[in-house]
Amino acid sequence: MTNNNIYFIANWKMYGVIESLKTIKNVISLSNNRSLNKVNIIYCPPYTLLREFVKKTKNSNISVGAQNCHQQSDYGSYTGHINSKMIKNIGCKYIILGHSENRIMGDTDEIINKKIKSSLKENLKIIFCIGETLKQKKNNQTNVILKKQIKKGLKGIKNISNILISYEPVWSIGTGIIPKVDELKKQIVFIKKILSQNFSSKKIKILYGGSVNQANIKNLKQIEQINGFLVGGASQNHKKFIDIIKKSIN
Ligand code: PEP
Repeated sequence: MTNNNIYFIANWKMYGVIESLKTIKNVISLSNNRSLNKVNIIYCPPYTLLREFVKKTKNSNISVGAQNCHQQSDYGSYTGHINSKMIKNIGCKYIILGHSENRIMGDTDEIINKKIKSSLKENLKIIFCIGETLKQKKNNQTNVILKKQIKKGLKGIKNISNILISYEPVWSIGTGIIPKVDELKKQIVFIKKILSQNFSSKKIKILYGGSVNQANIKNLKQIEQINGFLVGGASQNHKKFIDIIKKSIN
């Protein structure tokens, strides 16, 4: 893993109720540890808990992010949706966009591009997820898919400083299966190469997401090109999440 700033994103997906906030107490203490000054911990709970998370983490080094937004940047008649302005307004700093669980619900590369642009306008930092499905991998389409997602998702964007790219092979999310270290390293290098055609390589930050846990983190952290991890299932248990963070940096 890189020696620069590193990122741990906790994606709670559609889990968590008000009582769940109690569980992050120890993560807050960990975030305030001076020796962890290069570690950025970002909680992305469901919409219903965002405001509570912002309040609870106010005096800590934890940031809060949403898991999605509507592509429309202005207010409007979109029942059941919220936009990036609303997310910014309640104190969030980050937003996950392009997650495969939203791509399968209809988020196209073009829609994701609109969401990224409207979120950047609100000065939110983007966690932009990309990744191939198992079928695409088996058909040797991984690089084509990743290139398409990057080019279309970031179309018209000039600066990548506020965007973290999260490489998440869809076949690895929630399955317990992770890519082999060499394979993952090769994909990260490929993603970096594509991005560096349009952006300064110093500003490119790439995370990995997909079944990260306390057992596999030791292998994953060997990949020096990685700037951090997006953790789904394991982040909902504070002990596991803390263990992952500690094992990454020690
Ligand atoms: C995710 O939510 O993007 C994710 C990687 O989930 P998990 O860690 O559970 O595979």
